[in-house]
Amino acid sequence: MLPFCTWEEISDWPQTLTNHNIQEIVINGPVNRQLNSYPRNYDNRSFSLSFFCRKISNGESHPRSWLIYSEKVNKIFCFCCKLFNITDTSLARTGSADWRHLSQNLTRHKVSVDHIENFGNRIELKRRLQSSKTVDCSTEKQLLNEIDRWNNALKRKFP
Ligand SMILES: [Zn+2]
Repeated sequence: MLPFCTWEEISDWPQTLTNHNIQEIVINGPVNRQLNSYPRNYDNRSFSLSFFCRKISNGESHPRSWLIYSEKVNKIFCFCCKLFNITDTSLARTGSADWRHLSQNLTRHKVSVDHIENFGNRIELKRRLQSSKTVDCSTEKQLLNEIDRWNNALKRKFP
């Protein structure tokens, strides 16, 4: 198993993740460091902070919570598609640095069937993990109550 800190760097993730890896990543979430400027490529284009939000026609902007920029490789990834590894696109595998077509690629990716499924699976898994954590806490509380009852019973029997 990889040490926890490496999950922060999406480009370091192994091609195939175990269920345990996926759970750890979903719980801890992706890390997106926002930079003041991004490196320019051969045609003087670069990633930009504005890509983390999508502007819609009424002027509102919606965050692209699934978009991860890796400073290490100067590429972007789709967090949920990389996580579930069933989409054969650069956003889900090796990352994309096609800044020229980024806007249209992101728009296309967001409505792709695989992305919608992966996005939903990520939300569902996070919800399940959070609720199982809650169950664990209440089980632990029941156990502690049980121990208290036994201790009290023992004290009564052997004062
Ligand atoms: Zn995706």
